[in-house]
Amino acid sequence: MQLGKVAEQCATLAVGVVLMIIGGMGLKESREWDEGVPEEAESAFSWRTFGTGMLSGMHPDALLLCLPALALPTRSAGLIFLTSFGAGSMLAMGGYSAALRAACKSLGEQAVRRTSSIASALAIGLGMLRWYKHEFFTWTNAPRCDFCRSTDTKTIGGTEPTPEEQHFLAFKVEVAKCNACGQQTRFPRYNDPAKLLETRTGRCGEWANCFTLLCRALGYEARHVHDWTDHVWTEVFSDSEQRWIHLDSCEAAFDSPLMYEKGWGKKLTYCIGFARDHVTDVTRRYTQKFEELLTRRTACTEQDLSRTVAALSEFALDRSVSQLPAAAAEARRAQLASRGAAEQTQLAAAQSGAKAEEEVGRTSGDAAWREQRGELGANSAAKQKALACSELGVEGAAAPASKPAEPKAPASTPAAPKAPAEGHSSQEAQARMRARIAQFVAEGMTANEALLKVIQEAKMTNA
Ligand SMILES: [Zn+2]
Repeated sequence: MQLGKVAEQCATLAVGVVLMIIGGMGLKESREWDEGVPEEAESAFSWRTFGTGMLSGMHPDALLLCLPALALPTRSAGLIFLTSFGAGSMLAMGGYSAALRAACKSLGEQAVRRTSSIASALAIGLGMLRWYKHEFFTWTNAPRCDFCRSTDTKTIGGTEPTPEEQHFLAFKVEVAKCNACGQQTRFPRYNDPAKLLETRTGRCGEWANCFTLLCRALGYEARHVHDWTDHVWTEVFSDSEQRWIHLDSCEAAFDSPLMYEKGWGKKLTYCIGFARDHVTDVTRRYTQKFEELLTRRTACTEQDLSRTVAALSEFALDRSVSQLPAAAAEARRAQLASRGAAEQTQLAAAQSGAKAEEEVGRTSGDAAWREQRGELGANSAAKQKALACSELGVEGAAAPASKPAEPKAPASTPAAPKAPAEGHSSQEAQARMRARIAQFVAEGMTANEALLKVIQEAKMTNA
């Protein structure tokens, strides 16, 4: 590997780690606020904030500014330059952060705590995405040859999984032929996230499965979002913002839901979010053209879809809370109901304005593969950006001054066609669907498969 590339990767990783440290410190600080740490709460200056700032001062970009040291005549002159430069910038960043905190304090505790937890969660999220994309997981178009380790391989077809592969939820196995030695290598497409912690490679399915597991392990509530036009990503619930946030680990994309439509040029149809204890249709988060999108949703009627999703969600919730004491189960039901209602309101609001990083084509996978799938970019600018930051993910394309989307305007276009008033027969239909789902899941189907199957059945009954 070239030296430049190694340096680039180290720098990227360091930024990821520093972000996670900053985020962790911030979260700890905002939690301690809750518990009340009297001596420190009194003082406007905090050593922890100062430390956070110092860490920011060590940003690897600053390395460039250290280059003049090489031009100095003696080694000690260079060393003095570096020491003063390092101390100066860390002191400045530290002082700046401490001053910011002092300024925030005067705004009132609530505002500061909220800002602090949002910023910390953002730092952890961005840091994790970076680390995951650049360090932890790798993309596989065709697997490396098992025999001679050559990467010059080509997928030539598929085969049946072995019992062991099936045990780790691989339902498909791809077979690649090596152009160097002629041998064949199997590439089982594992779905078991724990197995993926070991293999650490794959395409979007593997990426999202394993990333969602890591989010859950860190204590976040997470969803696995299935896009029926063949992609999958993660959503994480932000307690401080009280909303679900989009995270695409393949692209290191954070809160950029419009990237598929505006950047990749995808013609989305159904995006369904599967959580541990609920299922919900989140399509409207990912489009600005829901009316047009509806014309492509032809797999079933909207009414059948919403009933099936509701039935599946009820089934998941019942199964999940059956393990809990009654009071906790009731509390969780109430929490999901109020969150669900709030989310419906958010989703019904028109999606206005796209961020710079949303107007970038797909960056994961090799360019020919992306082009062939029609995901390299919605237009030539998006394609160029996607090619330019293929190694870095979309964060590389984000303009520094890009602002988060403005608060969403109230709905100007009508939302999803409302199902007719729920009558007796419709409740019966939903109950029947639920029973079918329970049966399918008991037979070993995944939630997504059960959903598809029930929708198919509904379609046949209606026809
Ligand atoms: Zn080989």
